[in-house]
Amino acid sequence: MDQGNKIGIKTGEELVLLREAGKRLSAIVKELKCSLKTGISTQEIDALAEILIKEYDVVPAFKGYRGFPSCVCVSINDEVVHGIPSKRKLENGDIVSLDVGIIYKGYYSDMAVTAGIGNIDPEFQRLIDVTKESLYRGIEQAKENNHLSDVSHAIQSYVEGNNYSVVREFVGHGIGKQLHEDPEIPNFGEPNNGPVLKSGMVLAIEPMVNIGDWRTKILNDGWTVVTKDGKPSAHFEHSIVVTKEKPEILTR
Ligand code: MG
Repeated sequence: MDQGNKIGIKTGEELVLLREAGKRLSAIVKELKCSLKTGISTQEIDALAEILIKEYDVVPAFKGYRGFPSCVCVSINDEVVHGIPSKRKLENGDIVSLDVGIIYKGYYSDMAVTAGIGNIDPEFQRLIDVTKESLYRGIEQAKENNHLSDVSHAIQSYVEGNNYSVVREFVGHGIGKQLHEDPEIPNFGEPNNGPVLKSGMVLAIEPMVNIGDWRTKILNDGWTVVTKDGKPSAHFEHSIVVTKEKPEILTR
């Protein structure tokens, strides 16, 4: 990994486009989240995502990415990430993560949220709350002159302090003209390691948190990542800009 200062630093013009990309994506995700209810199929969610993506005049980033068939990843309960929309219907008590990526004038934005359907087990709600808070704990550390692993460490220590585990096999990433740019951002690690963060770096930070063990496996469809122990998992993601003080959340 490049330890230099220049990786991923965006110009002012690029940040203007990335801000607009983030704004449009967060509006899309907000509307999609409102559509979640018992009985809706994950394919219907994807169809709505496609309509919203057109409405907001952006391009889906995931559809066709390494052959992924859909605009949105919908991952239910023990599915961690990369769930492929299907005829499966949401049921009362499910927790569902929506992960959406879009491109606006050549610039990418990436965001994920997890929500409960109907009446969910209090433990599942706690998982959602801890995962969301861990994202904000990580974002808080994404400031100039901190090390990248300060972000990772903040996420891991908060999650493990709440007796949950962080997924190791999938990580956050830089983002800009590509969906996945350097650096990789693990959700675990010792503080004070890796590249030094500089103003203008744009990062997609995305903790994936399991109630049980951190280990995962990939289903036969080649995409869907599930927990090995079958226990639920949650996922939150924001695209952010490192600044001298408080990080700027693009997908707020
Ligand atoms: Mg991502």
